[in-house]
Amino acid sequence: MTHAPGTIPQRGMAQDFGQTAVTPVLVGGFIWRDVWASPFEGPLTRLWKLLVLNASGPAYVSRILFGRNLVGSAAAKTHGRSLLLTQWMAPEGKLTNALADSIYRAGLGTFSSQWANAIASDHQIRFCNSCLSAGYQSIFCQIDALLQCPVHGDPIIDYCMRCGAPTPRYALTAETMAMPFCCPRCGGGLSLPTAATASLSCYERSRQEFGDKEVSQYGIIADWLRRLDETEIYWPSAAEWRPGSDAEPPDKARRAAVFSVLSNIVPFKCGAGDTAIPQLRVATVRHDKSSVTVSAPRSRKRENAERIAVYSAICKSVRRVLQKYHRRCLKQAEAILHVEWGNDILWPSSSVCPFAFGFQLWRHHFEERRQYGKTGRTGKLRLRKRVLAWPGDRGIDSAMWGEFVLMSLLANLQVAIEWCERASSLPADYGRPLTPDVLEMIQDFRAELSPQFRAWSPRVTYFEFSRHGEDGLWWAGIAGPQVRVAGDRSASPLCIGNEYGETRERAHRTA
Ligand SMILES: [Zn+2]
Ligand SMILES: [Zn+2]
Ligand SMILES: [Zn+2]
Repeated sequence: MTHAPGTIPQRGMAQDFGQTAVTPVLVGGFIWRDVWASPFEGPLTRLWKLLVLNASGPAYVSRILFGRNLVGSAAAKTHGRSLLLTQWMAPEGKLTNALADSIYRAGLGTFSSQWANAIASDHQIRFCNSCLSAGYQSIFCQIDALLQCPVHGDPIIDYCMRCGAPTPRYALTAETMAMPFCCPRCGGGLSLPTAATASLSCYERSRQEFGDKEVSQYGIIADWLRRLDETEIYWPSAAEWRPGSDAEPPDKARRAAVFSVLSNIVPFKCGAGDTAIPQLRVATVRHDKSSVTVSAPRSRKRENAERIAVYSAICKSVRRVLQKYHRRCLKQAEAILHVEWGNDILWPSSSVCPFAFGFQLWRHHFEERRQYGKTGRTGKLRLRKRVLAWPGDRGIDSAMWGEFVLMSLLANLQVAIEWCERASSLPADYGRPLTPDVLEMIQDFRAELSPQFRAWSPRVTYFEFSRHGEDGLWWAGIAGPQVRVAGDRSASPLCIGNEYGETRERAHRTA
Protein backbone atom coordinates (compact mmCIF):
# COMPACT_ATOMS: atom_id res chain seq x y z
CA MET A 1 0.00 0.00 0.00
CA THR A 2 1.38 3.38 -0.91
CA HIS A 3 0.60 6.86 0.20
CA ALA A 4 1.04 10.06 -1.68
CA PRO A 5 3.80 12.15 -0.26
CA GLY A 6 2.50 14.86 1.98
CA THR A 7 -0.44 12.88 3.32
CA ILE A 8 -0.42 11.63 6.85
CA PRO A 9 -1.78 8.11 7.01
CA GLN A 10 -3.87 7.47 10.10
CA ARG A 11 -4.28 4.10 11.66
CA GLY A 12 -7.40 2.43 10.33
CA MET A 13 -7.56 4.75 7.39
CA ALA A 14 -4.75 3.33 5.36
CA GLN A 15 -7.05 0.84 3.71
CA ASP A 16 -9.43 3.48 2.57
CA PHE A 17 -6.71 5.58 1.05
CA GLY A 18 -5.89 2.60 -1.06
CA GLN A 19 -9.45 2.23 -2.26
CA THR A 20 -10.15 5.77 -3.34
CA ALA A 21 -9.49 6.55 -6.94
CA VAL A 22 -8.03 9.95 -6.28
CA THR A 23 -5.50 10.58 -3.57
CA PRO A 24 -6.55 13.15 -0.99
CA VAL A 25 -4.70 16.40 -1.15
CA LEU A 26 -3.75 19.01 1.36
CA VAL A 27 -6.16 21.94 1.32
CA GLY A 28 -5.52 24.79 3.67
CA GLY A 29 -3.36 22.60 5.86
CA PHE A 30 -5.77 19.66 6.01
CA ILE A 31 -6.36 16.47 4.10
CA TRP A 32 -9.46 17.18 2.10
CA ARG A 33 -11.18 16.61 -1.21
CA ASP A 34 -14.09 18.72 -2.29
CA VAL A 35 -16.10 15.65 -3.33
CA TRP A 36 -16.45 14.64 0.31
CA ALA A 37 -18.92 17.44 0.74
CA SER A 38 -22.24 17.62 -1.12
CA PRO A 39 -24.47 20.53 -2.09
CA PHE A 40 -26.49 22.06 0.77
CA GLU A 41 -24.45 20.11 3.29
CA GLY A 42 -24.11 22.13 6.48
CA PRO A 43 -20.82 23.03 8.14
CA LEU A 44 -21.34 20.36 10.80
CA THR A 45 -20.72 17.17 8.82
CA ARG A 46 -18.05 18.92 6.76
CA LEU A 47 -16.16 19.64 9.97
CA TRP A 48 -16.81 16.19 11.40
CA LYS A 49 -15.28 14.58 8.33
CA LEU A 50 -12.37 16.95 8.50
CA LEU A 51 -11.74 16.10 12.14
CA VAL A 52 -11.94 12.36 11.51
CA LEU A 53 -9.70 12.36 8.47
CA ASN A 54 -7.10 14.58 10.02
CA ALA A 55 -7.33 13.28 13.57
CA SER A 56 -7.44 16.89 14.76
CA GLY A 57 -9.21 18.54 17.66
CA PRO A 58 -11.85 21.27 17.31
CA ALA A 59 -9.71 23.95 18.94
CA TYR A 60 -6.91 23.32 16.47
CA VAL A 61 -9.24 23.31 13.46
CA SER A 62 -10.93 26.51 14.59
CA ARG A 63 -7.60 28.25 15.04
CA ILE A 64 -6.07 27.14 11.75
CA LEU A 65 -9.15 27.62 9.54
CA PHE A 66 -10.79 30.66 11.09
CA GLY A 67 -8.12 32.14 13.34
CA ARG A 68 -10.51 31.87 16.30
CA ASN A 69 -10.45 30.10 19.63
CA LEU A 70 -13.39 28.09 20.89
CA VAL A 71 -15.79 29.94 23.14
CA GLY A 72 -18.26 28.70 25.70
CA SER A 73 -21.55 30.49 25.25
CA ALA A 74 -24.02 27.76 26.07
CA ALA A 75 -26.78 30.13 27.12
CA ALA A 76 -26.52 32.53 24.20
CA LYS A 77 -29.34 32.57 21.68
CA THR A 78 -26.86 32.30 18.85
CA HIS A 79 -23.69 30.52 19.84
CA GLY A 80 -20.44 32.43 19.45
CA ARG A 81 -19.19 29.58 17.23
CA SER A 82 -22.51 28.84 15.57
CA LEU A 83 -22.54 26.59 12.51
CA LEU A 84 -25.92 27.96 11.45
CA LEU A 85 -24.89 31.60 11.24
CA THR A 86 -21.25 31.53 10.27
CA GLN A 87 -20.44 35.25 10.10
CA TRP A 88 -17.97 34.87 12.97
CA MET A 89 -15.75 32.79 10.65
CA ALA A 90 -15.31 35.64 8.21
CA PRO A 91 -16.18 39.06 9.60
CA GLU A 92 -15.01 40.57 6.31
CA GLY A 93 -17.21 38.28 4.28
CA LYS A 94 -14.50 36.19 2.65
CA LEU A 95 -11.80 33.75 3.59
CA THR A 96 -8.63 33.17 1.63
CA ASN A 97 -8.35 29.57 2.74
CA ALA A 98 -10.57 27.73 0.22
CA LEU A 99 -11.56 24.98 2.64
CA ALA A 100 -12.44 27.46 5.37
CA ASP A 101 -14.39 29.52 2.85
CA SER A 102 -16.46 26.52 1.72
CA ILE A 103 -17.39 25.77 5.34
CA TYR A 104 -18.26 29.41 5.95
CA ARG A 105 -20.50 29.44 2.88
CA ALA A 106 -22.32 26.31 3.97
CA GLY A 107 -24.07 28.33 6.70
CA LEU A 108 -27.71 29.30 6.35
CA GLY A 109 -26.90 33.00 6.01
CA THR A 110 -25.62 32.26 2.50
CA PHE A 111 -29.15 31.33 1.45
CA SER A 112 -31.03 33.98 3.38
CA SER A 113 -29.21 36.62 5.33
CA GLN A 114 -32.54 38.13 6.36
CA TRP A 115 -34.46 35.13 7.67
CA ALA A 116 -31.91 32.49 8.68
CA ASN A 117 -32.09 33.49 12.31
CA ALA A 118 -35.86 33.81 12.39
CA ILE A 119 -36.72 30.33 11.11
CA ALA A 120 -33.79 28.19 12.28
CA SER A 121 -31.55 27.86 15.30
CA ASP A 122 -28.24 26.37 16.37
CA HIS A 123 -29.76 25.24 19.65
CA GLN A 124 -29.54 21.55 18.71
CA ILE A 125 -28.34 19.40 15.83
CA ARG A 126 -31.36 18.37 13.73
CA PHE A 127 -30.86 15.53 11.27
CA CYS A 128 -32.42 12.90 9.01
CA ASN A 129 -31.27 9.45 10.06
CA SER A 130 -30.77 8.18 6.49
CA CYS A 131 -28.83 11.29 5.51
CA LEU A 132 -26.57 11.13 8.54
CA SER A 133 -25.93 7.41 8.08
CA ALA A 134 -24.40 8.42 4.77
CA GLY A 135 -22.33 11.10 6.49
CA TYR A 136 -24.54 13.98 5.34
CA GLN A 137 -26.60 16.61 7.15
CA SER A 138 -28.24 19.42 5.25
CA ILE A 139 -28.12 22.94 6.64
CA PHE A 140 -31.88 23.13 5.96
CA CYS A 141 -32.55 20.52 8.64
CA GLN A 142 -31.96 23.30 11.16
CA ILE A 143 -35.22 24.92 10.01
CA ASP A 144 -37.66 24.03 12.80
CA ALA A 145 -40.69 23.92 10.55
CA LEU A 146 -39.16 21.20 8.35
CA LEU A 147 -40.42 17.93 9.79
CA GLN A 148 -39.31 15.48 7.13
CA CYS A 149 -36.24 14.93 5.00
CA PRO A 150 -37.25 15.88 1.47
CA VAL A 151 -34.92 13.18 0.09
CA HIS A 152 -35.80 10.17 2.30
CA GLY A 153 -39.04 11.18 3.95
CA ASP A 154 -37.57 10.30 7.36
CA PRO A 155 -38.56 12.51 10.26
CA ILE A 156 -36.00 15.15 11.18
CA ILE A 157 -34.96 14.48 14.75
CA ASP A 158 -32.89 16.17 17.43
CA TYR A 159 -32.01 13.23 19.65
CA CYS A 160 -29.65 10.25 19.63
CA MET A 161 -31.08 7.18 17.87
CA ARG A 162 -29.47 4.93 20.49
CA CYS A 163 -30.00 6.51 23.90
CA GLY A 164 -32.51 9.25 23.11
CA ALA A 165 -30.34 12.02 24.59
CA PRO A 166 -30.87 15.44 23.03
CA THR A 167 -28.26 16.33 20.43
CA PRO A 168 -25.68 18.98 21.34
CA ARG A 169 -25.53 22.46 19.88
CA TYR A 170 -25.08 23.04 16.19
CA ALA A 171 -21.84 24.84 16.88
CA LEU A 172 -18.10 24.40 16.80
CA THR A 173 -17.78 23.40 20.45
CA ALA A 174 -15.69 20.86 22.29
CA GLU A 175 -18.81 18.82 23.10
CA THR A 176 -20.24 18.74 19.58
CA MET A 177 -16.88 17.92 18.04
CA ALA A 178 -15.59 15.50 20.70
CA MET A 179 -16.74 12.39 18.79
CA PRO A 180 -17.75 13.15 15.21
CA PHE A 181 -21.07 11.51 14.16
CA CYS A 182 -21.51 10.22 17.72
CA CYS A 183 -23.63 11.07 20.71
CA PRO A 184 -21.69 12.81 23.50
CA ARG A 185 -23.73 10.99 26.11
CA CYS A 186 -23.65 7.32 25.10
CA GLY A 187 -20.72 7.47 22.71
CA GLY A 188 -22.58 5.50 20.02
CA GLY A 189 -23.38 6.77 16.57
CA LEU A 190 -26.17 9.35 16.47
CA SER A 191 -27.69 7.59 13.47
CA LEU A 192 -28.58 3.96 12.76
CA PRO A 193 -26.61 2.42 11.16
CA THR A 194 -23.70 4.53 12.26
CA ALA A 195 -22.03 6.64 9.65
CA ALA A 196 -18.76 4.89 8.90
CA THR A 197 -16.92 7.67 10.52
CA ALA A 198 -13.37 7.03 9.48
CA SER A 199 -14.08 5.79 6.01
CA LEU A 200 -13.11 7.78 2.98
CA SER A 201 -14.98 5.37 0.74
CA CYS A 202 -18.08 6.16 2.77
CA TYR A 203 -17.72 9.85 1.98
CA GLU A 204 -17.12 9.13 -1.66
CA ARG A 205 -20.22 7.00 -1.62
CA SER A 206 -22.23 9.65 0.16
CA ARG A 207 -21.42 12.01 -2.64
CA GLN A 208 -22.80 9.52 -5.12
CA GLU A 209 -25.89 9.09 -2.99
CA PHE A 210 -26.42 12.81 -2.77
CA GLY A 211 -25.98 13.32 -6.45
CA ASP A 212 -27.72 16.11 -8.28
CA LYS A 213 -31.08 14.39 -8.41
CA GLU A 214 -31.44 13.75 -4.69
CA VAL A 215 -30.01 17.04 -3.66
CA SER A 216 -32.44 18.85 -5.91
CA GLN A 217 -35.06 18.11 -3.26
CA TYR A 218 -33.06 20.20 -0.82
CA GLY A 219 -32.45 22.65 -3.66
CA ILE A 220 -36.14 23.53 -3.61
CA ILE A 221 -35.63 24.95 -0.14
CA ALA A 222 -32.57 26.88 -1.30
CA ASP A 223 -34.59 28.40 -4.16
CA TRP A 224 -37.39 29.34 -1.81
CA LEU A 225 -35.00 31.11 0.54
CA ARG A 226 -33.49 33.02 -2.35
CA ARG A 227 -36.91 34.13 -3.57
CA LEU A 228 -37.71 35.15 -0.01
CA ASP A 229 -34.65 37.36 0.13
CA GLU A 230 -35.82 39.02 -3.09
CA THR A 231 -39.10 39.97 -1.47
CA GLU A 232 -39.11 43.18 0.50
CA ILE A 233 -40.57 42.34 3.87
CA TYR A 234 -41.18 44.77 6.69
CA TRP A 235 -41.80 42.84 9.89
CA PRO A 236 -40.06 44.55 12.81
CA SER A 237 -42.00 42.68 15.49
CA ALA A 238 -41.30 39.16 14.18
CA ALA A 239 -38.80 38.50 16.95
CA GLU A 240 -41.30 39.38 19.71
CA TRP A 241 -44.22 37.52 18.28
CA ARG A 242 -45.70 34.91 20.62
CA PRO A 243 -47.87 32.81 18.35
CA GLY A 244 -48.64 29.85 20.58
CA SER A 245 -49.41 28.89 24.08
CA ASP A 246 -46.78 27.99 26.64
CA ALA A 247 -47.18 24.31 25.85
CA GLU A 248 -44.11 24.23 23.59
CA PRO A 249 -40.85 26.16 23.82
CA PRO A 250 -41.95 29.65 22.71
CA ASP A 251 -38.89 30.33 20.55
CA LYS A 252 -39.31 27.09 18.65
CA ALA A 253 -43.02 27.70 18.14
CA ARG A 254 -42.29 31.21 16.92
CA ARG A 255 -39.70 30.03 14.39
CA ALA A 256 -42.17 27.52 12.95
CA ALA A 257 -44.89 30.19 12.88
CA VAL A 258 -42.60 32.74 11.21
CA PHE A 259 -41.80 30.10 8.59
CA SER A 260 -45.51 29.54 8.10
CA VAL A 261 -46.18 33.23 7.53
CA LEU A 262 -43.21 33.53 5.16
CA SER A 263 -44.49 30.53 3.20
CA ASN A 264 -47.74 32.42 2.85
CA ILE A 265 -45.90 35.38 1.37
CA VAL A 266 -43.68 33.28 -0.92
CA PRO A 267 -45.40 29.92 -1.51
CA PHE A 268 -43.31 27.01 -0.37
CA LYS A 269 -43.74 23.76 -2.27
CA CYS A 270 -41.37 21.06 -1.22
CA GLY A 271 -42.21 17.63 -2.60
CA ALA A 272 -41.72 15.10 0.15
CA GLY A 273 -40.60 17.51 2.82
CA ASP A 274 -43.45 17.81 5.23
CA THR A 275 -43.55 21.02 7.18
CA ALA A 276 -45.16 22.02 10.42
CA ILE A 277 -47.80 24.56 9.66
CA PRO A 278 -49.00 25.84 13.01
CA GLN A 279 -52.63 26.74 13.51
CA LEU A 280 -52.44 30.27 12.27
CA ARG A 281 -54.68 32.75 10.65
CA VAL A 282 -52.94 34.91 8.08
CA ALA A 283 -54.71 37.72 6.29
CA THR A 284 -53.19 39.99 3.68
CA VAL A 285 -54.69 43.04 2.06
CA ARG A 286 -53.31 44.61 -1.09
CA HIS A 287 -52.60 48.32 -1.07
CA ASP A 288 -51.46 50.91 -3.53
CA LYS A 289 -48.04 52.32 -2.69
CA SER A 290 -49.21 55.87 -3.20
CA SER A 291 -51.56 55.46 -0.26
CA VAL A 292 -48.75 55.07 2.26
CA THR A 293 -48.74 58.49 3.76
CA VAL A 294 -48.58 59.67 7.28
CA SER A 295 -52.08 60.83 8.01
CA ALA A 296 -52.70 64.49 8.52
CA PRO A 297 -54.37 65.33 11.85
CA ARG A 298 -57.75 65.99 10.32
CA SER A 299 -57.92 62.79 8.30
CA ARG A 300 -56.56 61.03 11.38
CA LYS A 301 -59.65 62.07 13.22
CA ARG A 302 -61.88 60.74 10.49
CA GLU A 303 -59.85 57.55 10.36
CA ASN A 304 -60.26 57.05 14.09
CA ALA A 305 -64.00 57.53 13.84
CA GLU A 306 -64.04 54.89 11.11
CA ARG A 307 -61.99 52.51 13.25
CA ILE A 308 -64.27 52.98 16.22
CA ALA A 309 -67.27 52.24 14.00
CA VAL A 310 -65.63 49.01 12.74
CA TYR A 311 -64.80 47.93 16.28
CA SER A 312 -68.29 48.75 17.47
CA ALA A 313 -69.89 46.70 14.69
CA ILE A 314 -67.69 43.68 15.40
CA CYS A 315 -68.31 44.01 19.12
CA LYS A 316 -72.05 44.06 18.64
CA SER A 317 -72.11 40.96 16.46
CA VAL A 318 -69.81 39.08 18.82
CA ARG A 319 -72.04 39.99 21.72
CA ARG A 320 -75.07 38.80 19.79
CA VAL A 321 -73.48 35.38 19.26
CA LEU A 322 -72.41 35.21 22.89
CA GLN A 323 -75.83 36.18 24.16
CA LYS A 324 -77.22 33.20 22.34
CA TYR A 325 -75.19 30.58 24.19
CA HIS A 326 -73.53 32.36 27.08
CA ARG A 327 -76.09 34.80 28.36
CA ARG A 328 -75.76 33.63 31.94
CA CYS A 329 -71.97 33.37 31.73
CA LEU A 330 -71.75 36.99 30.61
CA LYS A 331 -73.84 38.09 33.53
CA GLN A 332 -71.88 36.02 36.00
CA ALA A 333 -68.58 37.30 34.62
CA GLU A 334 -69.53 40.86 35.44
CA ALA A 335 -69.44 39.96 39.13
CA ILE A 336 -66.34 37.76 38.96
CA LEU A 337 -64.02 39.98 36.91
CA HIS A 338 -61.91 42.61 38.62
CA VAL A 339 -59.61 45.28 37.29
CA GLU A 340 -56.60 45.79 39.56
CA TRP A 341 -56.09 49.38 40.50
CA GLY A 342 -52.76 50.72 39.28
CA ASN A 343 -51.71 48.01 36.85
CA ASP A 344 -55.03 47.55 35.01
CA ILE A 345 -54.90 43.74 35.21
CA LEU A 346 -58.24 42.13 34.50
CA TRP A 347 -58.76 38.76 36.17
CA PRO A 348 -61.56 36.51 37.38
CA SER A 349 -61.61 35.68 41.09
CA SER A 350 -63.46 32.40 40.67
CA SER A 351 -64.09 29.90 37.90
CA VAL A 352 -65.50 31.61 34.85
CA CYS A 353 -66.67 30.76 31.34
CA PRO A 354 -63.64 31.30 29.06
CA PHE A 355 -65.80 32.88 26.37
CA ALA A 356 -67.21 35.48 28.71
CA PHE A 357 -63.76 36.14 30.18
CA GLY A 358 -62.10 36.30 26.75
CA PHE A 359 -64.74 38.67 25.46
CA GLN A 360 -64.30 41.05 28.39
CA LEU A 361 -60.52 40.78 28.19
CA TRP A 362 -60.73 41.83 24.56
CA ARG A 363 -62.95 44.79 25.39
CA HIS A 364 -60.61 45.69 28.23
CA HIS A 365 -57.77 46.03 25.72
CA PHE A 366 -59.74 48.21 23.34
CA GLU A 367 -62.12 50.33 25.35
CA GLU A 368 -61.30 53.12 27.78
CA ARG A 369 -61.61 52.10 31.40
CA ARG A 370 -64.90 50.41 32.03
CA GLN A 371 -66.61 49.68 35.29
CA TYR A 372 -67.13 45.98 35.82
CA GLY A 373 -70.10 45.10 37.94
CA LYS A 374 -72.06 47.99 36.48
CA THR A 375 -74.53 47.14 33.80
CA GLY A 376 -76.14 49.51 31.39
CA ARG A 377 -74.52 51.88 28.93
CA THR A 378 -71.94 54.34 30.11
CA GLY A 379 -72.13 56.84 27.33
CA LYS A 380 -70.09 57.13 24.15
CA LEU A 381 -67.71 54.34 23.16
CA ARG A 382 -64.11 55.49 23.45
CA LEU A 383 -61.13 53.37 22.44
CA ARG A 384 -57.73 53.42 24.06
CA LYS A 385 -55.35 55.74 22.21
CA ARG A 386 -52.49 53.29 21.83
CA VAL A 387 -54.53 50.50 20.36
CA LEU A 388 -56.36 52.96 18.13
CA ALA A 389 -53.02 53.93 16.60
CA TRP A 390 -52.15 50.32 15.69
CA PRO A 391 -49.75 49.55 14.02
CA GLY A 392 -48.26 53.04 13.93
CA ASP A 393 -48.29 55.29 10.91
CA ARG A 394 -48.46 52.63 8.24
CA GLY A 395 -51.43 53.91 6.32
CA ILE A 396 -53.55 50.78 6.51
CA ASP A 397 -57.23 50.78 5.70
CA SER A 398 -60.19 49.84 7.85
CA ALA A 399 -60.39 46.34 6.34
CA MET A 400 -57.01 45.58 7.86
CA TRP A 401 -58.06 47.21 11.11
CA GLY A 402 -61.11 44.94 11.18
CA GLU A 403 -58.85 41.89 10.76
CA PHE A 404 -56.76 43.15 13.64
CA VAL A 405 -59.78 43.64 15.88
CA LEU A 406 -61.03 40.13 15.11
CA MET A 407 -57.66 38.48 15.55
CA SER A 408 -57.20 40.28 18.83
CA LEU A 409 -60.49 38.80 19.99
CA LEU A 410 -59.30 35.31 19.13
CA ALA A 411 -55.99 35.93 20.86
CA ASN A 412 -57.77 37.08 24.00
CA LEU A 413 -60.12 34.10 23.91
CA GLN A 414 -57.06 31.87 23.69
CA VAL A 415 -55.59 33.57 26.76
CA ALA A 416 -58.86 33.09 28.63
CA ILE A 417 -58.98 29.41 27.68
CA GLU A 418 -55.41 28.93 28.89
CA TRP A 419 -56.25 30.73 32.13
CA CYS A 420 -59.30 28.52 32.70
CA GLU A 421 -57.31 25.38 31.95
CA ARG A 422 -54.81 26.31 34.59
CA ALA A 423 -57.46 27.40 37.06
CA SER A 424 -59.29 24.09 36.70
CA SER A 425 -56.90 22.51 39.21
CA LEU A 426 -57.80 25.16 41.82
CA PRO A 427 -60.93 25.33 43.95
CA ALA A 428 -63.81 27.13 42.20
CA ASP A 429 -63.56 30.12 44.49
CA TYR A 430 -59.81 30.49 44.08
CA GLY A 431 -59.55 34.24 44.42
CA ARG A 432 -60.82 34.58 47.97
CA PRO A 433 -58.55 34.72 49.81
CA LEU A 434 -55.65 35.16 47.39
CA THR A 435 -53.37 32.15 47.59
CA PRO A 436 -49.75 32.00 46.35
CA ASP A 437 -50.97 29.76 43.50
CA VAL A 438 -53.33 32.42 42.22
CA LEU A 439 -50.77 35.20 42.63
CA GLU A 440 -48.31 33.17 40.61
CA MET A 441 -50.92 32.61 37.92
CA ILE A 442 -51.68 36.33 37.70
CA GLN A 443 -47.96 37.00 37.50
CA ASP A 444 -47.56 34.53 34.62
CA PHE A 445 -50.48 35.95 32.66
CA ARG A 446 -50.09 39.62 33.56
CA ALA A 447 -48.59 40.75 30.24
CA GLU A 448 -51.74 39.56 28.49
CA LEU A 449 -54.24 40.66 31.12
CA SER A 450 -53.44 44.35 31.11
CA PRO A 451 -53.19 46.86 28.25
CA GLN A 452 -50.64 48.70 30.35
CA PHE A 453 -47.98 46.10 29.63
CA ARG A 454 -48.86 45.56 26.01
CA ALA A 455 -51.31 47.71 24.13
CA TRP A 456 -52.29 44.71 22.03
CA SER A 457 -51.81 40.97 22.14
CA PRO A 458 -48.30 39.67 21.49
CA ARG A 459 -50.01 36.78 19.68
CA VAL A 460 -50.98 39.10 16.84
CA THR A 461 -48.31 40.38 14.48
CA TYR A 462 -48.27 42.90 11.64
CA PHE A 463 -46.11 42.77 8.50
CA GLU A 464 -45.85 44.24 5.03
CA PHE A 465 -44.29 43.00 1.84
CA SER A 466 -43.84 43.93 -1.77
CA ARG A 467 -42.25 42.00 -4.59
CA HIS A 468 -39.53 43.37 -6.79
CA GLY A 469 -40.80 44.57 -10.10
CA GLU A 470 -44.32 45.20 -8.86
CA ASP A 471 -44.05 48.90 -8.29
CA GLY A 472 -46.88 50.67 -6.65
CA LEU A 473 -48.25 47.60 -4.92
CA TRP A 474 -47.68 46.33 -1.44
CA TRP A 475 -49.45 44.01 0.89
CA ALA A 476 -50.23 44.58 4.50
CA GLY A 477 -50.62 41.41 6.49
CA ILE A 478 -51.54 40.22 9.92
CA ALA A 479 -51.11 36.84 11.53
CA GLY A 480 -52.60 35.50 14.71
CA PRO A 481 -54.27 32.47 16.25
CA GLN A 482 -56.28 30.28 13.91
CA VAL A 483 -60.04 30.12 14.01
CA ARG A 484 -61.79 27.01 12.93
CA VAL A 485 -65.45 27.57 12.70
CA ALA A 486 -66.87 24.35 14.07
CA GLY A 487 -70.36 22.96 14.48
CA ASP A 488 -73.08 25.11 13.01
CA ARG A 489 -70.89 27.48 11.12
CA SER A 490 -73.32 30.31 10.75
CA ALA A 491 -73.92 30.76 14.43
CA SER A 492 -70.53 30.59 15.95
CA PRO A 493 -67.39 32.43 14.97
CA LEU A 494 -66.28 31.78 18.52
CA CYS A 495 -65.69 28.06 18.33
CA ILE A 496 -61.96 28.01 18.43
CA GLY A 497 -60.33 25.06 16.70
CA ASN A 498 -59.49 23.61 20.02
CA GLU A 499 -61.03 20.61 21.68
CA TYR A 500 -61.42 22.41 24.93
CA GLY A 501 -63.28 25.24 23.32
CA GLU A 502 -65.57 22.93 21.42
CA THR A 503 -66.52 20.74 24.34
CA ARG A 504 -66.93 23.80 26.47
CA GLU A 505 -69.29 25.37 24.00
CA ARG A 506 -71.24 22.16 23.53
CA ALA A 507 -71.63 21.88 27.27
CA HIS A 508 -72.97 25.40 27.41
CA ARG A 509 -75.41 24.80 24.62
CA THR A 510 -76.92 21.75 26.19
CA ALA A 511 -76.98 23.40 29.62
ZN1 LIG B 1 -32.53 12.26 4.46
ZN1 LIG C 1 -26.72 8.53 22.69
ZN1 LIG D 1 -70.25 30.33 28.69
